[in-house]
Amino acid sequence: MVQIRIVALLLIAGLCALSPSGGHAQSSGRSRADGRADDPTTSLFAQSASQSLNRDFPGDDISFLLLDACTGAVLASRWEHPATPIPLGSLVKPFTALAYGELHEFKYPGHICRGTSTGCWRPRGHGAVDLTSAIAYSCNSYFRMLTANMSAAEVAPAAARFGLQPPAPGISGRALAGLGSQGPDDHGLGDQWLISPLSMARAYLELIRRRDQPGVALILSGMAQSARQGTGAEVGRALPHSDALAKTGTAPCTHARHAPGDGFTIVLAPVEQPQILLMVRVHGVPGAQAARTAGQMLRRIEP
Ligand SMILES: [Zn+2]
Repeated sequence: MVQIRIVALLLIAGLCALSPSGGHAQSSGRSRADGRADDPTTSLFAQSASQSLNRDFPGDDISFLLLDACTGAVLASRWEHPATPIPLGSLVKPFTALAYGELHEFKYPGHICRGTSTGCWRPRGHGAVDLTSAIAYSCNSYFRMLTANMSAAEVAPAAARFGLQPPAPGISGRALAGLGSQGPDDHGLGDQWLISPLSMARAYLELIRRRDQPGVALILSGMAQSARQGTGAEVGRALPHSDALAKTGTAPCTHARHAPGDGFTIVLAPVEQPQILLMVRVHGVPGAQAARTAGQMLRRIEP
């Protein structure tokens, strides 16, 4: 079984290398209309991954999407309504950062995060942060500063470029970085930027394809750092022999069975030339904890 997985991954890798243009899932000849892979070897890996993930990570609390990083095709999934826009919290930060960059010649300011007093989730703060460490540690203080004067209209072009649903016109400031203004008792989604999980997963694949464009390297470097020691560190812990890119997020829960929040993690592996993307949502936990589940899942399907 392990050998089958290795062969399948190698073949996916080979096919990916042969199509440097990447190939959007929408235009790929290797994807069926429903977005699932139809290549026989890819299908073998997809079947095996789907069986493993459903068997070893059962239950309603965990949702996942496994994508072929080259084509965007869905290899395996368990996610109700993945095309329905929902709040995805800090997963949107890379795209907000690129929108900021486009408005400021890709010059990103430094910032001192003082924790609670500057609006960060980490009470004692992150100290001096730049864009890369703000992505790695998902520093809310940095992104509050970055988005303080930003409007939905300024973010919309970058969102469109990455295939994300645009923020509603009334949304501004920190909500554009996935930071809602609501308290723990307010479950309203009116001030949230709503994006479909499938669009978000594919936006991260687009990020990889645009790795040579201004600003993107800083973000990918932050995602690599996240998986090693940042909010995605549990991914690195689960994968002692390989590196990955990770981004975490926490957002208001949209399940019928309500919890204060849901944790999200997107992982891309391997780090140099990602072949697969795994997006995971765990009900009722913070994003950093969802990273542990994502890491364990990735380990289960990696050769
Ligand atoms: Zn911070």
